Amino acid sequence: MDLDQKCIFCKIIEKKIPARIVHEDEHSLAFEDLNPQAPIHMLIVPKKHIADIHGITVADREIIGHLFFVAKTIAAQKGLDKSGYRMVINNGRDAGQTVFHIHLHLLSGRPFAWPPG
Ligand code: 5GP
Ligand code: ZN
Repeated sequence: MDLDQKCIFCKIIEKKIPARIVHEDEHSLAFEDLNPQAPIHMLIVPKKHIADIHGITVADREIIGHLFFVAKTIAAQKGLDKSGYRMVINNGRDAGQTVFHIHLHLLSGRPFAWPPG
């Protein structure tokens, strides 16, 4: 795929556009959301381009599980496990997904309502 046609998160992963990166390893990248919805709002993404939940294959199970491991590691490092945090995956149009490269939102630093809007 031509770089210009690639999704925004692939460009961030390839360091073609900047982001405030908080964690990187072989399979994942975590960075601050450009338009934060809470005092702490990070995105955790696989380096492999997977568009959404339904793009996950059997071979991807370990990578997807790894995203949760990264999220809880970051949360613990920042002490968020004491107060709590919310993890969100918006999947598809009606859920509000706008970037079609699967990602975990990690939000913290304020109380969150339930049910969500
Ligand atoms: P979604 O709506 O797909 O669940 O979440 C996409 C998220 O990506 C949004 O919260 C949006 O603010 C964030 N986002 C979109 N473009 C960029 C970008 O270029 N850089 C960063 N850091 N975040 C982005
Ligand atoms: Zn992508």
